[in-house]
Amino acid sequence: MSSANAIWRSCSTCKKPIEFQQTYYACSVSTCNRTRHGFCFCSVSCWDAHVPMMRHREAWAEPQTAPTREAVERAQHAEHAPHTTSRTPAVGAGTAGSAHEVLIVVSKLKQYIKQQAAMHTADTVHGMLSDHLRHLCDQAIAHATA
Ligand SMILES: [Zn+2]
Ligand SMILES: [Zn+2]
Repeated sequence: MSSANAIWRSCSTCKKPIEFQQTYYACSVSTCNRTRHGFCFCSVSCWDAHVPMMRHREAWAEPQTAPTREAVERAQHAEHAPHTTSRTPAVGAGTAGSAHEVLIVVSKLKQYIKQQAAMHTADTVHGMLSDHLRHLCDQAIAHATA
């Protein structure tokens, strides 16, 4: 792992990188920690620098330990997971796999038989052919997985 990947966040004052599991300083004032990307400081002096800026009357620096990279990545995955799953339609939930669906293009089949033999095709044929086709597919799948 390169050191560039070990950076968790950067100091809110001096922009120095704060690495995973490094000790950093957080502000005791809740408004400074309210957002997810709240203030964090690499040292007490950096924390000191933001106090007049934020007009804190009573505040202190709280030593904290940066989370591990794994913990941050897990939190990010947890955040993104519900979105990605809701966007993806469930595969196989539709009628595509239903056991009695017609698998052939009936009009093309009728056209072919008409051309070949000048015969009309009974409407029940496509159901039978679909069943036969399913059977052939099942056999092919069994062969392929064997
Ligand atoms: Zn700093
Ligand atoms: Zn603060």
